[in-house]
Formats: sequence, structure tokens, C-alpha cells
Amino acid sequence: MAPHACPNCARLLHFEARVCPSCAFTLGYDPASDQFLFLGDNATTWRDAQGEAHPVVVCGNNNEYGVCNWLVPVEGERTLCLACRHNRTIPDLSAPVVPERWGRIEAAKRRLFHTLLHMELPIETPAEAAEKGTGVGLAFDFLYDPVAEETGTVQITTGHEAGLVTLNLIEADDVMRERMRTELGEPYRTLLGHFRHEVGHYYWERLIQHTPEVEAFRQLFGDERISYDEAMQRHYGDGSCGWSTDFVSAYATMHPWEDFAETFAHLMHIVDTLATLNGFGMRMTKWPGMQGQPSVDFDPYRAETSQLVAEWGPFAFAENAINRAMGQPDLYPFNLSETIIAKLDYIHRLLKRAAKGGSVEEKEEAKAA
Ligand SMILES: [Zn+2]
Ligand SMILES: [Zn+2]
Ligand SMILES: [Zn+2]
Repeated sequence: MAPHACPNCARLLHFEARVCPSCAFTLGYDPASDQFLFLGDNATTWRDAQGEAHPVVVCGNNNEYGVCNWLVPVEGERTLCLACRHNRTIPDLSAPVVPERWGRIEAAKRRLFHTLLHMELPIETPAEAAEKGTGVGLAFDFLYDPVAEETGTVQITTGHEAGLVTLNLIEADDVMRERMRTELGEPYRTLLGHFRHEVGHYYWERLIQHTPEVEAFRQLFGDERISYDEAMQRHYGDGSCGWSTDFVSAYATMHPWEDFAETFAHLMHIVDTLATLNGFGMRMTKWPGMQGQPSVDFDPYRAETSQLVAEWGPFAFAENAINRAMGQPDLYPFNLSETIIAKLDYIHRLLKRAAKGGSVEEKEEAKAA
């Protein structure tokens, strides 16, 4: 995402900021105006950089638990922000490790929502979905798993079912998550990655399941009617994952649903990272053999897939080089083949048609399909 600045002193802020590290004013992020606001001297009025007052209050999850820095309009009955209102179950906060981990989970979830909101994708809570008749609503269960803490054996599986995303709190423990990443041979495992993957399943159900769209999906990703249980046994059983350059990850080879969710997550990774590069105005130098000068001088939330992919290649390489310069693993340890790019493009077009601000041509394309 583009960088944000403190509206009081203009210092650059991370998206998780709640207090400015420079001027020490209390901060909140207002998703409606996509900016940070600060609580002025009288500690009652939220103001922007121009000094204008905004009728907002802090999210209920900040008041009560200190895990959210988003703001909610004063008007209306909502006390929870656009991201927090999708929580169905919050974890048992009596265990000492839980509050801090839950905070990390909410921070990752807000980044997910920031991207979804900027892509203007439809997002409903289960209650809103029932009211509008749009089928699945998106909800989250964040669950503490005491057995996993004591024995390392996970009892609660992170996953998605009918709009409900379950996340085991153990994933917010760096040591445990890194252990699982190594055991499963994954090059990348993060909370944000989990959210982007699981919400991909939600959009599959929301936009493809029980619609004519499923035919186009099957042509690219395969037939999802094959047994999921058998696919899982095969994947974890004989060790022959069948990973080829047609899949963005080994996990994507397991079942067409997982391929879709993995590819969806990568689209989110690429869009949001390019939006960050764009926000900082980063450019790359031209070197021999390179055509043009890589730069992200377009809005990645609105761009064509071809634009995204063309700039992603050189920038992902540069980002990996930067990480290696710091002795860190590659930022983006993946390669995009033509087949993967075709899948990314399919998902991207699907999302653009579903977006609230989608163009007339895109809507027509949707009707014709
Ligand atoms: Zn400040
Ligand atoms: Zn919130
Ligand atoms: Zn999945």
C-alpha cells in the first residue's frame, strides 16, 4: 500500500501505528477517507492534516482490547470497524500469550481488508449476505489451541468453509509457524499469506460456485469435483507433489480449490507490493539488455494483469537482491510461468467484474459470460 504520514507532523507511519513515534499524538486509520487522523489537543476530535474534523470514533476492539487502530463513523449503530465486524469468534484471552498474538492477527487482517477495499471487492458479513441474498458472508474464528501449545500437535486446522475462515492462534507464534513452514517444505508462510489464501476460497464460493463461471474456472484450474480427501491424502501421502511450473506453489497442486486460493493470494501479494513501490515512487535503473525502465507509474489496484506482471518481474528480482544484501531469505521466492500468469489474469478479470467500481465493459463481459 502507499505510505501514510502522520497528519500532525508528517512523519511516515507504518499501517499499524496507534501513536506517532515523533509527535506522540494518538492516531487512527480512517478507511472511509484512506488516511490517518490524529486526536487533537482536546482529545475528543479526530482531525486530518488540514485540521478538518472527522466524525469518527475508535473501533470497539481498540476500546476494549487494544488490538485495532481503525476508526468507525459516529453515525450508525456500528461500533466495530470494517475489518473487525467480520469476527465471529475471538480467542480465549485468559491465556497469557493470546492477547499479543491476537493483535498480530488483527494487524495482518487489516492489511488484507485494505487491499480488498482498494480493489472495491464485495465483502459482506454473514448477516449482510443473508439480508442481500448474496449467499456466503465472510466471517472469522480465531481460536486458541492449548494442545498445540503443549505438545506441538495442532488440533485446530486453519482453513475455510462456507465463508468462515478459521485461524489457529499458533500461526501467530513465530517459532511454531517457522517450524511448520520447514516441516511442510514451504518457502513462504505468513499470517498475511494465510488471510489472502483463505479469502481466495471465500471469493471462489462468492463468485464462481453455482454460477456459469465454473466452466471457465475448470478449464484453467481443473475439475474441483474430484474428491478433496483423496487429493489431500495423495498430496501428503506419497510425497510426489507433482509441482510443475503450471502451479505457483506445491500446495496449489493438491486440488483446483487450493490452486485458485494460492493464485488469488499471489495476485494480492503482487498488487499490494506494487502499490507500495508506486506509493514511494520507486524506480529502477535501466541496464544492458533490459527493455524500458521498470517503474510502477500506474495504479496497481486498477491496472491490467499484463502491466502488473511486466513490472513485477524486475522489481521482485530487485527486492530479492535487497533481502539477500541483508542476509534475509528472498522476499518473493516464486517464479511466474505463462500458465500461472493466465490463471492470475483470469482471477484478476473475475475480481474486476465483481468490483463495485468495475467498468461498463467489464460488467458487460460478465453478463455475456
Ligand atoms: Zn506525528
Ligand atoms: Zn477494528
Ligand atoms: Zn486452502
